[in-house]
Amino acid sequence: MTTGEHALPLDLDPSAVARLGRHAVDFLADWVRELDTAPASHYEPDGGLLTALRRPPGDGPGNFTALLELFRQAAGQGVDTAGPGYLAYFPAGGLVTVALAELLAQTVNRFTGVAQVAPALVAMEHGVLSWFCERFGLPAGAGGLVTTGASVATLSALLAARHARGDGTIYVTEHTHYCVAKAAHVIGLPADRIRTVPATTGLRMDVAAAATMIAADRARGMRPVLLAGTAGTTSSGTIDPLAELGELAREQDLWFHVDAAYGGGFQLTGRGRTRLRGIETADSIILDPHKSLFFPYGTGLLLVRDPAALHAAHAADGHYLQDLSPAGDLPDFGHLGVELTREFRGLRLWLPLHLHGVQAFERELDEKLDLAAHVHRHLAADPRLEVPWQPDLTVVLFRLRGTDQDNGRLLAKINASRRVFLSSTTIDGRYFLRLCVLSFRTHADRVEEALAIIRAAC
Ligand SMILES: *Cc1c(COP(=O)(O)O)cnc(C)c1O
Repeated sequence: MTTGEHALPLDLDPSAVARLGRHAVDFLADWVRELDTAPASHYEPDGGLLTALRRPPGDGPGNFTALLELFRQAAGQGVDTAGPGYLAYFPAGGLVTVALAELLAQTVNRFTGVAQVAPALVAMEHGVLSWFCERFGLPAGAGGLVTTGASVATLSALLAARHARGDGTIYVTEHTHYCVAKAAHVIGLPADRIRTVPATTGLRMDVAAAATMIAADRARGMRPVLLAGTAGTTSSGTIDPLAELGELAREQDLWFHVDAAYGGGFQLTGRGRTRLRGIETADSIILDPHKSLFFPYGTGLLLVRDPAALHAAHAADGHYLQDLSPAGDLPDFGHLGVELTREFRGLRLWLPLHLHGVQAFERELDEKLDLAAHVHRHLAADPRLEVPWQPDLTVVLFRLRGTDQDNGRLLAKINASRRVFLSSTTIDGRYFLRLCVLSFRTHADRVEEALAIIRAAC
């Protein structure tokens, strides 16, 4: 093993690559082995550890084993967002095969901002994007971009929409993720251009109210340009009536944007396709593989009906790029989004899909739908609890029939088990505990354990 005594040049020789690589991969295998028994959360402020982590790098080489040990200890602090007990926010787990793809892609280190420099790798990434477009029922010629997450994808979607439809008002609900308002803010839309359509008691956009609001806005001289539906809201996992919203957008000549950051992965399942019906009418769709496709954090997708709109909204030129010309029908990803230089993101999608096969994803997602329905049934049968909404996907909201403070205490008690970790949200001014089954590492055993912990804590 590398010790501090030997110099370690930046240009590793092949045997050092193999030695360090094996050591890192052994570390990962050990870490994965311990996930099942690791605490779901672990807060033990350790001053010594923090001091060691903040220590500046030495002038000479360090010891890989000792450095990895520091990383292991640092990763063990806080919430275990990769473990089976993580039922808060949107757990994905983090497929190790994506991490392995990253190791390969980063080592090969090819530039994929412009197709001409790495045409085959760009074709690989483009192929995955086209496959997603097809799974969402978008027409041939649709395309998109792999981003770091839904927020960045939304930014580019809104820019494309503005380029295609001009400046005007956009329509959301109070349950729309704030990334839409944030993107609007970043592209310079005044806050009053964001119009909040009322939601139904089922927490869905009220289509009739949207139609009325759009007509009224037009009558007072405003210019409606974009309607944003959500396929799985962040608080409750609720799906807006996408087919009706798509129809309204078409009638009113609005850009139809669907935020499927959470719900999008379920399009791979039969139940998901039924529940997301209408998403195929979208002009832009965003989804986060780091949510419902179990990816590690850092992968978002933007799919657009008309990639020309995306290109027109982002293309720019510089003399330093004069050697580079378009490569046939391959997209220049650097001209479709805000980043020029980016890591090659194709392999991290291509490898796990081809290696595990699509059915492996479908099976996992179907299991999560079943588990969430099971959680809902059990909690709804407990007379101490209010469980007002049937899950559209895999988020279940519940609360004790008591005060918000009682419910805050209940959450703290559940999380103190350190076997599961839940979060909370507020709907119509009332506090709800929120349980989301989404990690590929969460199965029936941990869900039963969660239900037992909740019952005992009530
Ligand atoms: C998580 C989420 C986002 C934001 O996605 P990031 O990947 O965190 O940028 C947007 N919309 C919805 C519905 C989400 O759940």
